[in-house]
Order: sequence, then C-alpha cells, then structure tokens
Amino acid sequence: MDFALTSEQRRRDEELDAAIRDRLGDNRPFAADQHFTRERWRAAAELGLTGLCLPAEHGGQALGALDTALCLETFGRACPDTGLVFGVAAHLLACAVAVRDFATDEVAARLLPRLANGEVIAANAITEDDAGSDTGALGMKAVGTRDGYRLTGEKSFSSNAPLADVFVVYAVTDPAAGFLGTTGFLVDRDLAGVEVGPPLVKAGLHGCPAGRLTLTDTLVAHDRVLGEPGQGSVIFQHSMGWERACLFAIYLGLMDVQLRSCVRHARRRRQFGSRIGDFQAVAHPIAEMRQRLDSARLLLLRACWLIDNGRNAVTETSLAKIAVSEAAIANGLAAVQVFGGSGYLAETGVEAQLRDALPSRIFSGTNEIHRTLVARGMGL
Ligand SMILES: Cc1cc2nc3c(=O)[nH]c(=O)nc-3n(C[C@H](O)[C@H](O)[C@H](O)COP(=O)(O)OP(=O)(O)OC[C@H]3O[C@@H](n4cnc5c(N)ncnc54)[C@H](O)[C@@H]3O)c2cc1C
Repeated sequence: MDFALTSEQRRRDEELDAAIRDRLGDNRPFAADQHFTRERWRAAAELGLTGLCLPAEHGGQALGALDTALCLETFGRACPDTGLVFGVAAHLLACAVAVRDFATDEVAARLLPRLANGEVIAANAITEDDAGSDTGALGMKAVGTRDGYRLTGEKSFSSNAPLADVFVVYAVTDPAAGFLGTTGFLVDRDLAGVEVGPPLVKAGLHGCPAGRLTLTDTLVAHDRVLGEPGQGSVIFQHSMGWERACLFAIYLGLMDVQLRSCVRHARRRRQFGSRIGDFQAVAHPIAEMRQRLDSARLLLLRACWLIDNGRNAVTETSLAKIAVSEAAIANGLAAVQVFGGSGYLAETGVEAQLRDALPSRIFSGTNEIHRTLVARGMGL
C-alpha cells in the first residue's frame, strides 16, 4: 500500500493551487446574494475544473475519481469562495457524470464539450417539497408522447439552478414500477414551460445560488432521456456515488486551510503572558481537528480508489461522506472557538467556513440515510 502522491499528482496540485489562487483566490462572498458570475465560472472552466472527469475527446481531463477528488481538494483549499467550488463540483459530478455515462453518443458529443468549457452550467433537480430523502416519492410526472415526454411538477432545491442552462431532472414515468418507474431527463432552460425561481436565501455556500424549478407540460425530446426509460434511479445513484466520493474533497481542502490558520493563530495570539497554543485546552482541540481531517481524508481516498478499480463502493462512500461532513462541522465549531470573538466576525472568514460546512450532513443524502446504508451493507 502506497500513501504517497505520485510526482504527477504533486505537480498538478502545485500548478492548480497557484493558478486558482491567481484567478479565484481573491473573493469570499460576504452576503447571501453574492453568487458566482459567468466570469468566475469561466475562470474555473479555463483551469479545467468543470471537466475534470470528462473524456479528453470532449474537452475534459479524463481523470478518475481519485484524481478528480485531489483536484477538488486543491480547489477547496485555494479558493475561499466555497459556494463556487461547490457549484462547480455539483455541475460536474451530479450532472456531467450522468451525461458522460448515460446520454446518447450524439447528445454527449454536443453537450460534454460545452459542460467542460464552462459555456453551459448544469443543475441537478431531484428533490421536491414532499420527496427529500425519500426519492422514491417523486411527484413530478413524465408522460410519453410521439414527440417526447411531457414533464409537469416542481423541484424544490436545485443548486446552480438560477444560472443553469440545462437541468438533469428525475421524473416518474411509470408510477406502478417503483424503483424502475423513474426516468432521468436533460431539460434545457429555454424549453417552453420551464420556470426557475429566484435564488433561495441560505445560511452558507453563498457563492452558489440554489432555486426551485417548475416544469409545466414541458416537452422533452426522446433523445434527451438519460439511459433507458425507468433507469433514472440507477443513474441518480451512479452520479451520487461520484458526488459523495469526490465532491466532499472540497471540504478536505477547506479543513486544511482552516487547520493551518488555527495553528498560526494559536502560535501568535498571546493571553496571560503565553501563546494560547500553550494551553492544553486550545492545543488538544486543534490536534483533534487534525485527527478528524486525516481520518476523513483516508476514507474519502479509499472510496475513490474503489470507484476507480470498479469495486462496489456503496458502504465505503457512505462512510467517507459521513466522516468528511461531520469533521467539517466539528472542525468549523472548533475553529471559531480557537479564534475567540474574531472567529465570529465575518471579516476573518472563520464563521463562513462553519456555515459552508453545515449543509454537508444534509445534501447528497443525509447522514442518517448513509448510516442506514452502512448498516444494510453489514446485513442489518
Ligand atoms: C446546500 C444544499 C444543496 C442541495 N442541492 C441540491 C441539488 O442540487 N439538487 C437536489 O435535487 N437537491 C439538492 N438539495 C436537497 C437535498 O438533497 C435534500 O435536502 C436532502 O436529500 C434531504 O431531504 P429533505 O431536506 O427533504 O429532508 P427530509 O428527507 O425531510 O429529512 C429530514 C430529517 O429526517 C431524517 N430522515 C428522513 N427519512 C429518514 C429515514 N428513513 N431514516 C432516518 N432518518 C430519516 C433526515 O435524515 C433528516 O435529518 C440540496 C440541499 C442542500 C442543503
């Protein structure tokens, strides 16, 4: 077993880190409405970040899950706008991966280059008001016709939606078929009957706008069906496998920066005539931050390695998702405490790291659902 990065991985990390700091290292959104702009999205695309795991012949970098995760870790470390990082990762993993693996060759050849080069922004839309964790309870219906499918219904929480050009939408095509009754569709924003709501006001990830998506009798052509009719749940689980493994690497990068800033602060800040880091009450929580970060990182890299090697990674991906998200929140809380009052001020960015970490236990399947999957994986 080799824990060392290859020289190629180290070189890519150094170059990417420097390029991201140069192009996107300046801006941390303070306000809930400071979403990413097309220019910032294009900058991320020019660095190859919107196409990390897309095929080279379609403008991507053809990276596997592990290398994609390493690049996203670098992105999360070097770019303080975690919302933008999250938006790019969701576009790539929840949407472009589904197109890469399930669109027709013609649609993939047309769409993947534009997803990779930043021209087209994608949003994933499955969640509804009455179907969150229970993705088997979707209310959005798709009725087959000669010209395509007519989709009607409302999605309640879609990251990137307010700026997205295309949506990966899941709708029920056969209510009686259960797991096999859901179908995935590519829905262009400019189709008749597509309505995107205003950005939702969130606690964090301000850089990434999220919104509702309403479809009213929207006609989606047959060639925009992902995979086969009825394959939607499988496609969703497939893209979520990539998202749960790779997207969470952005939080490894965030925790890395956070840990370094805590160490720096604990070495510089003096109270009672000592560096606060000399107090065990400050040093031990920082040691625990390191322990949580390192163990979460190992679980995440293992999950990616399993995906790259074609192994079943359901349990390991859930374990990684739980570990990274819980580490990100625990470390975010610890960092605020290490920084004291200044950690509560927006100008330090410490409180923003905690707010940006908060939803990580919820999206890509809640941690409660993932614990259930882990338990099932052990035969419970
Ligand atoms: C920042 C963010 C970004 C998101 N981006 C997207 C996106 O791009 N596209 C999209 O479609 N959705 C997105 N979502 C929505 C997300 O997928 C859902 O919020 C999530 O699946 C949970 O659904 P819910 O919010 O309806 O919670 P619920 O399902 O109502 O769950 C509420 C609570 O009950 C628990 N619970 C529910 N069922 C069970 C059970 N069987 N066993 C144990 N506990 C259970 C949950 O774990 C949770 O604690 C995003 C959410 C957030 C916060």
